[in-house]
Amino acid sequence: MSEPVDLSPPRRGIIFILSAPSGAGKTTISRAALKAIAGLAASVSLTTRKPRDGETEGIDYRFVSEDEFKRSLSLGDLAEWARVFESSYGTPRAPIEDAVAAGRDILLDIDIQGARQIRDKYRADAVAIFVLPPSFIELEGRLRRRATEDESKIQHRLERAREEAKAFPEYDYLIINDDVSDSIARLEAIVNAERLKVSRLRNHFAPWKN
Ligand code: 5GP
Repeated sequence: MSEPVDLSPPRRGIIFILSAPSGAGKTTISRAALKAIAGLAASVSLTTRKPRDGETEGIDYRFVSEDEFKRSLSLGDLAEWARVFESSYGTPRAPIEDAVAAGRDILLDIDIQGARQIRDKYRADAVAIFVLPPSFIELEGRLRRRATEDESKIQHRLERAREEAKAFPEYDYLIINDDVSDSIARLEAIVNAERLKVSRLRNHFAPWKN
């Protein structure tokens, strides 16, 4: 039996950025999308926060000390970084630049400060998607049901979420997460459409050159 032939023209990889206020359901969507969408890989961030139950080193994050984080930053190893909830978070630069060069797509689950830096640096190769819950009331309910924190922390997250939600006009796409499977289907549609953009083709698209 002959090998299947890949007819898709060679193109640069795409950096998909997914941001949302906490409680919008972004983690659920990104985990499901990574399973559902072929050829999409997660970027693994560095963080100085402690691992939560169920998180695995090297898969959810690379958990590092403040000193290790500072070292990566000073060596220029991070494509972006930000302080979020009193911890530092950063995206390693080499894996995303390698992915773009090799035509592989990558998903970054990062906050709005990081999204701005990635879009500034990799404008042609980045697509920014924002996830919002259907309403602020709904978001408050979700954060309270999660209830892993005391009231003052919940209030702090709510204030921050309200502030962050205002950033959606900076993004290319908005997904209102009223139903998780609909949201995943929307994300898949965005990925598929972006993959077909002529502007991403490498100039040596051979079949039609002569
Ligand atoms: P958590 O601690 O709940 O996993 O993440 C807190 C926030 O930090 C989330 O909004 C998440 O998207 C963001 N975040 C995770 N990794 C990075 C990163 O590498 N850079 C930036 N800027 N934000 C990140």
